[in-house]
Amino acid sequence: MASIGIKQVSKIYDKGGAKAVDTVDIQIEDGEFIVLVGPSGCGKSTLLRMVAGLEDISQGTISIGDRVVNQIEPADRDIAMVFQNYALYPHMTVYDNLAYGLKNRGTPKTEIAARVAEAARMLEIEKYLDRKPRALSGGQRQRVAMGRAIVRKPAVFLFDEPLSNLDAKLRVSMRGEIRKLQKRLKTTAIYVTHDQLEAMTLADRLVVLNGGVIEQIGTPLEVYNRP
Ligand code: ADP
Ligand code: ADP
Repeated sequence: MASIGIKQVSKIYDKGGAKAVDTVDIQIEDGEFIVLVGPSGCGKSTLLRMVAGLEDISQGTISIGDRVVNQIEPADRDIAMVFQNYALYPHMTVYDNLAYGLKNRGTPKTEIAARVAEAARMLEIEKYLDRKPRALSGGQRQRVAMGRAIVRKPAVFLFDEPLSNLDAKLRVSMRGEIRKLQKRLKTTAIYVTHDQLEAMTLADRLVVLNGGVIEQIGTPLEVYNRP
């Protein structure tokens, strides 16, 4: 678990260009589920990617626990990210997709097997461990992507529109599961979506972005009951 401090953070992609993220401040508590919501192009992904360390921070600082993100080597970042397009390794089995990040970190084999089994049970993908991703449905692939995030027991989950490629019914059920898993694991989470209903259902606190600026921040009730 970890708190996340986003302080006066801006992103400028092109020198002299507009700020994609403009002087954003968010203090995220340990175990909190934050949803970044807003129209396409408002800076949600850019902010998430800066937290992940995938994008340079033009101004300001982002810290996770007591460490500044920019100073943490990618391999040492205690973060797992789930993407819209799943980003599974197509040539590997589900088991190996789940085990990959742990193997890279030198986790002992017996522990890898135990953690993969636990994640697979939580996500009900035990039956598919020997399959390749192409033999799975979209919903099953998204479960594997979730499994890959949780086996590492990271301090922080980052979600970038993870359910956008699923049909409406699956989206609703996966939403509930993500929320349950996050509560159970007590992992701090930042979740990006343009779907307001999804944002309301998932968030402890919502951050509404517009043009790179925070327009509103608060609980779903606070945000949607504002006149
Ligand atoms: P969202 O995730 O809310 O759709 P983004 O963070 O993707 O928004 O984009 C915010 C702004 O930054 C947009 O104006 C977008 O065009 C711009 N932008 C995003 N990525 C890049 C990039 N790699 N180079 C230049 N501009 C970018
Ligand atoms: P190595 O790294 O030496 O190849 P692994 O620990 O990866 O050995 O295990 C070998 C293979 O056995 C893996 O590729 C994986 O697909 C399979 N495997 C291991 N444990 C399980 C399991 N619990 N369920 C399904 N497949 C497993």
